[in-house]
Amino acid sequence: MKCISIFLSAVFLLAFTHRCQPGINEEKKISTISRALIPQPVRTEYASGHFTITENTGMFCPAKLEETAAIAARQLGIIKKVNTGRKRKGIFLAIDTSLHREGYRLKVQRGKIEITGGSNAGVFYALQTLHQLSGSEGLPSKVPCIAICDYPRFSWRGLMLDCSRTFQSPEYLKKTIDRIAFYKMNVLHLHLTDDQGWRLEIKSRSVLAEKGAKFHPEYNEPERHQGFYSQEEMRDIVQYAGSKGITIVPEIEMSGHSTAVLVCYPELSCTGEIVDKIFPFFKGPSVTPDILCAGNEETFALIEDVIDEIVEIFPSEFIHIGGDEAPKARWEKCPKCQKRIKDEGLSDERELQSYFIRRVERYLRSKGRRLIGWSEIIEGGLAPNAAVMDWIGGAKEATEKGQDVVMSPTRYCYFDYPYASIDSEHAYRFDPVKDLSQGPSEHILGLQANFWSHIDREPELVDKQLFPRLLSIAERGWSPSGSTDWDSFRNRLEKHLAILRLMGVNYYQADVAESAR
Ligand SMILES: [Zn+2]
Repeated sequence: MKCISIFLSAVFLLAFTHRCQPGINEEKKISTISRALIPQPVRTEYASGHFTITENTGMFCPAKLEETAAIAARQLGIIKKVNTGRKRKGIFLAIDTSLHREGYRLKVQRGKIEITGGSNAGVFYALQTLHQLSGSEGLPSKVPCIAICDYPRFSWRGLMLDCSRTFQSPEYLKKTIDRIAFYKMNVLHLHLTDDQGWRLEIKSRSVLAEKGAKFHPEYNEPERHQGFYSQEEMRDIVQYAGSKGITIVPEIEMSGHSTAVLVCYPELSCTGEIVDKIFPFFKGPSVTPDILCAGNEETFALIEDVIDEIVEIFPSEFIHIGGDEAPKARWEKCPKCQKRIKDEGLSDERELQSYFIRRVERYLRSKGRRLIGWSEIIEGGLAPNAAVMDWIGGAKEATEKGQDVVMSPTRYCYFDYPYASIDSEHAYRFDPVKDLSQGPSEHILGLQANFWSHIDREPELVDKQLFPRLLSIAERGWSPSGSTDWDSFRNRLEKHLAILRLMGVNYYQADVAESAR
């Protein structure tokens, strides 16, 4: 029985990673139960008594919640099939659409646990809370009697992974999905194209992945750093994320950061010169002068072909089109770009950029989607329906014009930066609506941590850059605006370190040692 208990203990928390991690035997010895919740719920009331979850606890739900229930049962270590057995005692799941879509009520009583969510996502989040309440000892587990009412502060609680500078394996993406879902984050933004590679199969433009996903052989880049996702692989990732309440937002970068495209289609640059090398980040310029020609109709034909396929793969409301760091030197000298400026009555290259973005925005809108792009897309005016991802400013200007914004400023949210400049405490201090008045602040959709894969390129190093400070972003995205007590968060974070270890996360320990003082 003890063996089973130990086994279930491992399954219980390793269900996130779907495979055992090295060193787990040591972690099984963890005896303290982490009932510290991250993110902090909106309202929590403790009562006396407890409910004991065992591997035979029944879980009952309507048919549309069966997948969510099955995922949670696996996480918790429950082996009994969902919706079987006596219905007097157990975990009961329901949906009440009058609740916030991602919100939930969780009531743990001596005889039963009742969960009501505003949607599948709300129920899933309640089950993550229950999972945290049940601790890290495995089953059987005594969950304290408690009543929680909870819902998120922001609708966008994101993480961006740069899959272009360094390819991130589907396995690592799924592992990351498991981890961020546990902390109620709901967007995984994938930076799929850049100078260093095109990482998604496009069937009508197969050269993009065939040629654009490989570094030039002279750089001897390891195979694991390059390659692409087949559409089938990406559909599987999108479905997997969706089952855990996470939307995958794809980013197809334009008009700059397009070396990988120009290697495949040199005729789409302003000069038409052959570009023959996809170079690792530190073997070339960080911003290249060659960008997509805005005067060439073939540029837009390519973009539309790509959009036609990505909207079939990604159900996300938003499609990210990059738009950052597009130097205008080539456009200034290009007869085609200059003709476009003249024909369209534009005043300069900044307005040409605006023309470019508006045209893509119109096409996305015709597909029922919304455009989002980095700060620079504001230059020269922005289509009203488009949203901005603020990395170097623009939130104030955009929100005052009524445009939606996701906050990911470099000084708080750039997790390729060292902990010396952004530690967990610093990230926790970030308030996405600071400095905005009431009206504009309502246009802040939320916040996002960004990880660029040019320096730290192996999964264990990416882990270290993301964790534990990503938990700060998770809490600031979910918990009420008044939840800003760093000491409270630090105490809870310390208790979650054991969970991170059990999840196989190679988190940055020095940051936590610092915070534990
Ligand atoms: Zn041009």
